Amino acid sequence: CGIIGIVGKEAVADRLVDGLRRMEYRGYDSAGVCTMDGGQLIRRRAQGKLANLVEELAANPAPGTIGIAHTRWATHGAPTANNAHPHATEKVALVHNGIIENYKQLRDELIAAGRKLESETDSEVVAHLVSQQVESGASPQDAVKAVLPRLRGAFALAIAFRDYPDMLIGARLGSPLVLGYGEGETYLGSDALALAPLTQKIAYLEEGDWAVVTRDGAQVYDADNNPVEREVTTSGASA
Ligand code: GLU
Repeated sequence: CGIIGIVGKEAVADRLVDGLRRMEYRGYDSAGVCTMDGGQLIRRRAQGKLANLVEELAANPAPGTIGIAHTRWATHGAPTANNAHPHATEKVALVHNGIIENYKQLRDELIAAGRKLESETDSEVVAHLVSQQVESGASPQDAVKAVLPRLRGAFALAIAFRDYPDMLIGARLGSPLVLGYGEGETYLGSDALALAPLTQKIAYLEEGDWAVVTRDGAQVYDADNNPVEREVTTSGASA
């Protein structure tokens, strides 16, 4: 229900949870984060209130200066820790807002291809589709380009790639996603409010857009994969 991503120069776990806290008003039933550090995806999830995730992170910290986080409002699959986002394979971690309407067909296809899905969610299929591409040698950009046209329904996505520890990819169709520009850091979020303590410089992604997010900024592409510029506004939201 709420997404935040940080490509940062300092530790991100606490700041990710902070961003989730600012989106609590949307409602949620579980939460999770995934950071990248030392060539690994480090994933922590918890059912229920953010306090449970904070407790989990205190017991099992998630170091790293880049990461994604999510508060979930379950549509497919019970509100358990195992169905909480991020969903991950060995190489890819992903958070999703919205509903993948054709997930059943995609799921059957993945299972027929021998993949092991671990959750009951519609979202996990997207992690596996992207991972399948990356595992067969596609770049993150090409993987996303191949998978987005296959998704029906509504989505905002933030995706981390284990072997590309300096970037995230975001995408949206039918669910909002904004970019935030900091000093040597760049952010993704469901809304400007979630990013308010980090930056006031916001760009709204348009329908079908996807973006490669690095510390230096973001390159946005439209639904036809043409590079585009989206206007950066200085939001009035206060930290
Ligand atoms: N449909 C997804 C799920 O049930 C995402 C729900 C959300 O937007 O939080 O896991």
